[in-house]
Amino acid sequence: MSEPACLFCKIVSGEVPAKVVRETARTVAFRDINPQAPTHVLVIPREHHVHVGALAAADPELLAAVLGEAHEVAVDEGIAETGYRVVFNTGAQAGQTVFHVHAHVLGGRGLGWPPG
Ligand code: 5GP
Repeated sequence: MSEPACLFCKIVSGEVPAKVVRETARTVAFRDINPQAPTHVLVIPREHHVHVGALAAADPELLAAVLGEAHEVAVDEGIAETGYRVVFNTGAQAGQTVFHVHAHVLGGRGLGWPPG
């Protein structure tokens, strides 16, 4: 399932280029175009789901795969031990701007809490 107008579906298909760091049969991980930390990678399912709640309801195994890949990104980036954050902005008020679910994997510097 893909949405023709969706930016991240276009990254999955290769129509829009991205710096891909990991790929599986069901997921793609690529560097954020506007990184907010030394490591800032987005992990997405190839299938189009608008946000994490929709993905959780439709396919919990795929959500687990996205989270597993988020950890593998952290391992690859050398931040699994020092610490990293996985964020799903969900809905406009939380800052979601691309409505194809994506896990932000952030690390490589101290991360403040609470988030802004
Ligand atoms: P959101 O605001 O929806 O949680 O996150 C969307 C993220 O996608 C942002 O961090 C933004 O920088 C990133 N982004 C937007 N357009 C592109 C793009 O064309 N390529 C890549 N690699 N990242 C993008």
